[in-house]
Amino acid sequence: MRHPSFEFHCIPVGIDNCYLLRGRTTILIDAGAPGHVKEFMRGMDRLGISLREIELILLTHGHADHIGCLHQIQTLSEAEIAMHEAECAWVESGEPDLSPGVTLWGRMLAGLGQVLYKPRLYPRAVDYSITTTLSSLMKLGYGVPGQVVHTPGHWPGSISVLLESGEVFVGDLAMNAWYLRSTPGLPILAQDMDLVVQSWKRLIGMGARQVYPAHGADFPIEIIQKEIQAWERRSGTP
Ligand SMILES: [Zn+2]
Ligand SMILES: [Zn+2]
Repeated sequence: MRHPSFEFHCIPVGIDNCYLLRGRTTILIDAGAPGHVKEFMRGMDRLGISLREIELILLTHGHADHIGCLHQIQTLSEAEIAMHEAECAWVESGEPDLSPGVTLWGRMLAGLGQVLYKPRLYPRAVDYSITTTLSSLMKLGYGVPGQVVHTPGHWPGSISVLLESGEVFVGDLAMNAWYLRSTPGLPILAQDMDLVVQSWKRLIGMGARQVYPAHGADFPIEIIQKEIQAWERRSGTP
């Protein structure tokens, strides 16, 4: 996707999408699933972009599948790391937890994950911890026309990156991958679905129009709007 002096790219890394935002400098959103750093490097090679061009690694949240290659990517790029303050402990301990399931399949996955998914992660120091107050004001800078928005619900410190042109990179605030859900929509794993819905209403109010999840392909915001209506009908909330 190209803007006048800005472009972004999706780089699949294991079960995840990382997104590379290229303005005056380069920002990487998320650091992929554990054990797939070679896939990330092949993606960078295909784009003809050196890892040393990455100035900032912005983590949508601290789950293992989003910080799995952080140690290697940060070492190779020497980029700084930023994430919401509520998530820093997961990265700095190298022992992140999992979100609970919301649907039946989500609950099964979360249960299996608690037993079977224990990847080895290297603790990393976070350079910039983003507070909730700061995220409501935070332009990205780096020549990237967008801002960071605190969008809790999947996990307490989940953040999204909303571009001025309406594309929004949401981590796991939406999902669109066969192993999670068969159609695009709201997450099947979440700490608090009411907060998920509130976060989405905020993003929609700020102009979000095309959703780029960490799992699966992008899709239009109208799908989320229908999902919110269905959720509110089921839960009896307005
Ligand atoms: Zn997650
Ligand atoms: Zn994830």
